[in-house]
Amino acid sequence: MIKNLSPSRASQFKTCPKQFKFSNVDKIKEPTNLVQAKGTTVHQALEDLYDLPSNERTPEVLYNLFRKAWSNVRGNDEHVNLFESLDDEREWGQEGLNLLHNYLKLENPQKLEPLEQERWVRGSIEDLNLRGILDRMDEDKDGNLIIVDYKSGKAPMAKYKEPRFFALKLYALLIRDEIGITPKELKLIYLKNSTIHTLNIDDKMLDEAKIEILSIWDEIKKAFKENNFPAVKNGLCKDWCYYKPICPLFNKEAPDTDELKNIVEKIAETEENIEAISMFENQDDLPDSSPLKNIKISDLEIDITLLKNKQDKILKEITSLLGK
Ligand code: SF4
Repeated sequence: MIKNLSPSRASQFKTCPKQFKFSNVDKIKEPTNLVQAKGTTVHQALEDLYDLPSNERTPEVLYNLFRKAWSNVRGNDEHVNLFESLDDEREWGQEGLNLLHNYLKLENPQKLEPLEQERWVRGSIEDLNLRGILDRMDEDKDGNLIIVDYKSGKAPMAKYKEPRFFALKLYALLIRDEIGITPKELKLIYLKNSTIHTLNIDDKMLDEAKIEILSIWDEIKKAFKENNFPAVKNGLCKDWCYYKPICPLFNKEAPDTDELKNIVEKIAETEENIEAISMFENQDDLPDSSPLKNIKISDLEIDITLLKNKQDKILKEITSLLGK
């Protein structure tokens, strides 16, 4: 069972419980793709821009921050083999710069002073631990808080805008719980087509978001209990789901990934046991009734290594299917 939930994981479960399971329960990691790498680099450039004094926040500086952010991470393991050629990388870089150019049509960085950037928000609602990272929090001239999120994609039509605010409502909820102030506005900045969508919020809306996230959490707990994570066809299946080749809706011979789930759970349980034993300086101090009394940490560590080897082997087989 997972211990924390982020707004994006909650949305993933809402959209397709099977995809949620592949990613968060079976831990089949999706490699970074071009779209994600671009989004992350653009976010980094914008964050770095607002760390500078306002008079230095020019378009050229912003574009250079993008280049710098990319050169800092392009050699990382997750980015190896991302591009087939240098020309592809250049084209990708140009698209990133275009997104930043689009951003500058929407806001003037020299006239804006974010209150906070990349702020960790976390809190508990009943038995749910919710956490996430806010892109930016602003304050308007009357001192009201505005929660801001950059999106590197395209804005939906205005009539479909509201569901996209769910994650920001949860961030606003956590801010309200943490500092006792209800943010006034949520702002989504879509860079692909230079569009800003805003939503005024109040306590009632945040209370409704709280009820909704608790109901998703109940469904997640039920899914774990019954080991039932159904695949639900949706708009992402066609081009945006990495797991499609192993999804039972699209592959009648899809492998059963429950073995991975079992291994992940056993590793977590064994790690917890090591932690519990380590809390005692002398293992003899453990109560006689404890099932850990006569277990050696070194044996548990060997168990973990064996489990991880097995996990790697299964993941390798699955990844080869995913790569096809
Ligand atoms: S392909 Fe569609 S139904 Fe299958 S896991 Fe992905 S999102 Fe879910």
